[in-house]
Amino acid sequence: MAQSNIDPSLPLVDLHRHLEGSMRLETILELAQDHGIPLPAVEPEALRPYVQAVIPQPGLMAFIEKIDLSVSVLADLDACRRIAYECIEDAAAEGLDYIEVRFSPRYMAGPNRLNAADVVAAVADGTEAAVREFDIRANLIGILSRTYGIEACWEEFDALAAHHSHITAMDIAGDEAAWPAELFTEHFRRGRDLGWHITAHAGEAAGPKSIWIALQQLGATRIGHGLRAIEDPALMDLIAEEGIGVEVSLTSNVQISAVAEYADHPIATYAARGMKVTLNTDDPAVSGITLPHGYRVAAPAAGLTREQIRRIQRNGLDVAFLSDEERAALRAEKS
Ligand SMILES: [Zn+2]
Repeated sequence: MAQSNIDPSLPLVDLHRHLEGSMRLETILELAQDHGIPLPAVEPEALRPYVQAVIPQPGLMAFIEKIDLSVSVLADLDACRRIAYECIEDAAAEGLDYIEVRFSPRYMAGPNRLNAADVVAAVADGTEAAVREFDIRANLIGILSRTYGIEACWEEFDALAAHHSHITAMDIAGDEAAWPAELFTEHFRRGRDLGWHITAHAGEAAGPKSIWIALQQLGATRIGHGLRAIEDPALMDLIAEEGIGVEVSLTSNVQISAVAEYADHPIATYAARGMKVTLNTDDPAVSGITLPHGYRVAAPAAGLTREQIRRIQRNGLDVAFLSDEERAALRAEKS
């Protein structure tokens, strides 16, 4: 049974899920209607192709445009709080035990000119309310949206830092090819000073050099995607030796045309080389998937054995941004 790719005696975790890519279709429609925000369609099925990657997109930025439309309906802080709450509720319904949700406060604040620091507080509030309600744990990762440039990332950093105790880690996302990571080393130094863990989108839309910089200059202990590490054996060796977590999202990688199909994804090579790969959803609403889909459908199609998939589930717990005590508690609840 393919379903048994998920080991019920281990926690099921998603370490790479964007809040802005997790918005329910119905919520997008409802918020647009409540606030008089125009959308290209007002029926769910008619709107779907505008906010979901129903066919593969020509690249990362075309995929992100789908999310831009979803984010345009975040009219106020209640909307931000609501989508955070629903994201956790949906993750619990998928059977997840722990999730790390990431978001870019400036990206969420932008279309309706909200205050980015207030957005951080609203997301934290919605997340914490849902964790109290549902049988799941969660941590938040703050994203710097590199597409807006260096100065804007300082504003975004300050918004996150204003509520730093609600944030576990820091990430960078957006147009990787146009805005290389070395422009943001000082932002990350300050983030490490605040005690945040570091992950970075790297090797998704740029080459292996981007991953080297994330590890050596940003201080990343995990990498988002890391697709192009496959081009650099020395880099793969380093990632394996140092136990760097690789946050793989098979479906979104296909949907942005980074790989043509699951079978072309390097994840099986990474697993065979002992790299700590994990399975994640990235933008489940945009991709139209759940995490169990990744385990059941995408992972076997990418050439992973059942044993490797179980290892991957364990890796998720190993590289989660949790203290040793929290990790042990999560594990104890399942066994
Ligand atoms: Zn991502």
